[in-house]
Parts: sequence; C-alpha cells; structure tokens
Amino acid sequence: MYRRIPPFLKKIASIFKDAGYSVYLVGGAVRNMVMGHKPLDYDLATDATPEDVIKLFHRVIPTGIRHGTVTILFQGHSVEVTTFRIDGTYSNLRHPDSVSFTPSIEKDLERRDFTMNALALDLATGALLDPHDGKEDLQKGIIRAIGNPVERFSEDGLRLLRACRFSSQLGFLVHPDTLEGMKKTHGNILKVSVERIRSEIEKILSSPKPSLAFRIMDQTGLLEDILPDLAAARKVGEKGSAGLDVLEHSLKACDGAPADNLPVRLAALLHDLGKPGCRVVHPDGRETYHGHEKVSEELARNFMKKYRFPKLVEERVCRLVYHHMFDYQPDWPDSALRRLIFRVGTEYLDDLILLREADHYGGGGAIKKHPYLDDLRKRISYLLHSGDPLGPRDLAVNGHTLHEEAGIPEGRAMGTILSHLVETVLDDPAQNKKDILLKIARNLYLSIQG
Ligand code: ATP
Ligand code: MG
Repeated sequence: MYRRIPPFLKKIASIFKDAGYSVYLVGGAVRNMVMGHKPLDYDLATDATPEDVIKLFHRVIPTGIRHGTVTILFQGHSVEVTTFRIDGTYSNLRHPDSVSFTPSIEKDLERRDFTMNALALDLATGALLDPHDGKEDLQKGIIRAIGNPVERFSEDGLRLLRACRFSSQLGFLVHPDTLEGMKKTHGNILKVSVERIRSEIEKILSSPKPSLAFRIMDQTGLLEDILPDLAAARKVGEKGSAGLDVLEHSLKACDGAPADNLPVRLAALLHDLGKPGCRVVHPDGRETYHGHEKVSEELARNFMKKYRFPKLVEERVCRLVYHHMFDYQPDWPDSALRRLIFRVGTEYLDDLILLREADHYGGGGAIKKHPYLDDLRKRISYLLHSGDPLGPRDLAVNGHTLHEEAGIPEGRAMGTILSHLVETVLDDPAQNKKDILLKIARNLYLSIQG
C-alpha cells in the first residue's frame, strides 16, 4: 500500500482534527493507494457541515453545496470535501430527492457505488476503514456493487456506465451478480443526461483498453441503449479477417489507437458503423460493404451530436471516418500521395495514418504493425517539405489571373478549370508554371465552349 500523505493534506487534516472533526480520504485516492499508486487527486469526507468547513478555511468554493460538497483551496491545491451523507429516495434515478447529513462514516460509505469505492483512510490515525471488503475486491480485480445490485443501479443509472469505465481503467472484471444486476437494469442509463454519459465515454476512450468497457456494455444491453449502430455490428462480417465480427474488430481497433488521442480513438470505434447497413452477400459467399465509409460518417456524426461532443472533435472524427478506406502500397507514385494529401487535408494526415494503423491492428492478423505506414509517413513528410504544389493555394495561377490574362469569365467554367489545373499539377508538379497553366486553361475553356 502506498502510504505517503503529502504535507498540505496533513495540514488540512490537522485543522479538521484540532476543531474536533473527523476527516477521511475517500474515493479514487484510497483506491490508488491500496493498489500501491500515488493518488492523482484527493477527495475528503468529514462530519463537519459545509458551513463548518467554510468557517475553518480561508478559501472555500461552494461547488456542490446542496449535496454537501465544497472545494478547499489550500497552498496551491484544491481538495473536494463532502459532508458524510445519507441519500434519500431516488425518484428521478439520478439525484437523490433529499440529502441528509450523518455523523457516521459507515453510513456514508454505504451509499457509495462499488465496494472498492467504499474505502476510507482516517487521516488522523492512518487506519483504513473497509466495511464492504473493498480491499479484497481491489486485490482480486473485481467491481462489485455494494448491497443489492438491482437496487443500486435503479437508484442511479450512471453507476452502470461507471462500472464499465472502471473495468477499462483498471482492467477489472465485474462480479457476476453485479453483471446480472446490470442486465436487469440497463435501461436506466437512458435517464442519465447525455453530458454525463459522454463524460464516461470519454474516460473509457482514454483508458488503456476501452474494449473491456464496451464488451460489458454489449453483454448488459447498455451498448444497444447508447450506441445501437455499434451493437448491430455483432455477428456481422465474421467471414472477414481472423473471424472477428465488425463489433469485435471495431473494439480491437479502438484499443489499438493511442489512448491520448480522443478523435482517433473515437474514429476507430465508429469507422465501420455503416457496415451492417451496406453488407452485400455475393453468390460465392463473399461479403462486401461498398460505400460503408460514407454511411459510417453519417452514423458517427449522429452519435457525436446526440452526446454533444465538441464540434471540433465531431468534424475531425467524421473526416477521419470518411477517408479511412485507403490502402497504401509502397509502389504508389508521388502523384497518388499528393492527391491523398489534397483530399484529406494536411492537418488530418497524422491522425488518418494512426487510424489506418489502428484499423490494421484491429484486423486481428498475426502482424500487429502495419508494414508500410512508416514508409508512408516518411514520404508524406518529404512531400510536405518539397515545395511541390499540394492544392489550389499552391497553383501558379488563380481565378484572378485566369480572368485577366486568359479572358475566362467568373462562373461555373472557372471552377471546373481550376479543379482541372489542380489535378494537373498534383499529377506533375513541373506543369505548375504560369504560362503552361494559362495555355491549358485557355484550351480547356475553348473546349468547354465548343
Ligand atoms: P475518479 O475520480 O478516478 O474518476 P473516483 O472513484 O474518485 O474516481 P469520483 O466520481 O471522483 O470517482 O467519486 C468519488 C467517490 O464518490 C467514488 O469513489 C464513490 O465512492 C462516490 N461516487 C461517485 N459517484 C457515485 C455514484 N454515481 N453513486 C455512488 N457513489 C458515487
Ligand atoms: Mg475522484
């Protein structure tokens, strides 16, 4: 067990103690310490009321005072402090109707979600309170609801997703009884706000192995509730690589994307959403999914809109999903690479290659690392620095020059001609000279007119 308590927290604890209150470290911090890790942040529980805490410390923000929570700012740190609570009835399945304070830490621990989250470290004595055998579950790697799982998940639907999230963050299994409880109550997730759901999904996606969470969601019915288009990918496409269905492939791809890159993780999860709807089974048994990337993009967008992901994330993910079907081979000529750069946009290329790598990883083949993508990175980097034209902005002419010097009027023809010129220079950068392009433009204009 990690035992080191930082000096600022010891000081806070002594202020509580000297005023006659008890104070415990609770939540994720104790979980981490029991597992031998240094905590990232510190949540405290106390029998002092929020008003008492405000009197004891100079700088206190009433962050959630209705629920008994305030934040102490102390020596450059911020620490959440919650008064021991008993939650009342849960008629809207998210917020207790009434919160009452209690002098008993044991009562406070009883209202918490999982046994591993009901540990409390007495900061005065260093004793660990563990009334629900959370330490044992932590050591076994088990997520277990406190008391009756069906009741706990009926009180608050968010706990369903928290169980999944902790599984992927910690690599833990959900206890079979708790899992049964989740199956019976999964629909309660629909009563939780989309923002809370999104926040859990973001935490899942930045965990080491998101597939652990999504598999539990699939088993319990939560996936069907939250992301039905992905649930529909179960059993689709098993004839593909390594016998994985599209759901398993997507989950593996998601694991294979970098944990610190939310757009790529999301794109990996969502890139094949369109496959179930685009599946065509041919007479010889082969299955194809022509055009699925466009359908995937649309379904991915619907999902991200529904759960209110930031617009920038939505745009990036859609772009990546739409372009994910390129199959780079080392014999591609530079012109093909320049076209790819133009099509995708320079600011998306790195992520698109990461997505392609994740997709390959999710293919379940023996070779985890894509054989050619490092080569692609090098070639792209070379082209980006080569001075070769890579889009309309690099053309040696623009609409104005074409108008002034080739007599081409503004309008549809101009657009067509400019696109053609871009294609021309992507194909052969040597053509990117003003006189050459003016000549091509003139001829093209004449042929359009003719
Ligand atoms: P982390 O901060 O790493 O996400 P945590 O366990 O500290 O993990 P918080 O959301 O900070 O999670 O909550 C602190 C504690 O409050 C939890 O450990 C748990 O005891 C309790 N808790 C939080 N949310 C719920 C909930 N929905 N139902 C019951 N108890 C909860
Ligand atoms: Mg916490």
